[in-house]
Amino acid sequence: MSEFVFSRKPITIDRGEGAYLYDTDGNAYLDAGASYACTPLGHCHPRVVDAIQEQAGRLLYVQGSYPTPPRDALVEQLVAVAPQGCANVWLCNSGTEANEAALKFARSATGGETVVAATRAFHGRTMGALAATWRDKYKQPFEPLMPGVEFVPYDDPEALTEAVDDDTAAVLLEPIQGEGGIHPASASYLKDARALTEDVGAALIFDEIQTGVGRTGTMWACEHAGVVPDILTSAKGIASGLPLGALVCRDWIAEDSGPHGSTFSGNPLVAAAATQTLATIVEEHIPEHAAEVGAYLREELRAADLPVRDVRGRGLMIGIEVKRGANRLLRELALEHGVLALPAGRTVLRLLPPLIIEREHADELVAGIGGAEETEESS
Ligand SMILES: *Cc1c(COP(=O)(O)O)cnc(C)c1O
Repeated sequence: MSEFVFSRKPITIDRGEGAYLYDTDGNAYLDAGASYACTPLGHCHPRVVDAIQEQAGRLLYVQGSYPTPPRDALVEQLVAVAPQGCANVWLCNSGTEANEAALKFARSATGGETVVAATRAFHGRTMGALAATWRDKYKQPFEPLMPGVEFVPYDDPEALTEAVDDDTAAVLLEPIQGEGGIHPASASYLKDARALTEDVGAALIFDEIQTGVGRTGTMWACEHAGVVPDILTSAKGIASGLPLGALVCRDWIAEDSGPHGSTFSGNPLVAAAATQTLATIVEEHIPEHAAEVGAYLREELRAADLPVRDVRGRGLMIGIEVKRGANRLLRELALEHGVLALPAGRTVLRLLPPLIIEREHADELVAGIGGAEETEESS
């Protein structure tokens, strides 16, 4: 009963260091999924671990109405890396909570009641964010969810134009869909979304929970399109694997965001981890590195002439459309080639390696995938 909601993988993980995880028998695995992009600096980055250890001995928690130096530092750091104009910060404990807050703030600030989201979208599993998530599989047993969500085909400007009206509180989009199969939106689509929401006074929310903190080669994926949203949500890798959700927004949202709160918001331990994570990403030019190694990795994947349909993505957010089920391939990759990756739907192999990987890790990854594909082909 204690494990009833977890699906177990046949490897027990004991420790992590850099781009590798080690099981309890001491076997090493190249971590090409970073546990869903949660460890951008690799496992147990010394700077982050030091900050956690130092903070743990000083103050683990105090109620949010008292300012603390670690929370103040995180807010300052977040504003420094946020898109220009998104200078207001809200902190919570997960991605779905960040989206939940974004939806509440948008409803409050606009007075609108409806939300426009996209087909294939994934925004989380609480009742509001889940309502804006596309797949019925996640939603159906829990209905009715929050009403008023309309889905439009992703990256289709006409459908978006048709859906957005005076009653729209928010348009909620991932700049690159993660769970949905690694689909980047065109820059012009994101620009259209910006113009349409501005016209009717709706909030444009970008869910950068998977695409953020350097993953796609810029700090935020919306930078590729040069579009600044009204609200941007982040989580996953922002605190190197400790539970943190964050939202940054423009003044007009913050000024009329309504009452909202969370007990652990901005807790000092997690804040210390996140500040060092973000500072390291900035100081060590991690987004630029992700862009460079990501381009190399995609090139090598294409050059390897694998029996696959497509290699796509941006930076170190890469989807490989395979010809047969992704899950069998992933198992083969893990158990026979020591590479841990992720699926995104039934036929997409998803790569979200730590952003610190070098070309030799990329080579190891390509060799592993080549080997696993070969076994698949001959089986
Ligand atoms: C993972 C994810 C979420 C949900 O985050 P949780 O921390 O699991 O609640 C929301 N949106 C996107 C794009 C995600 O990848």
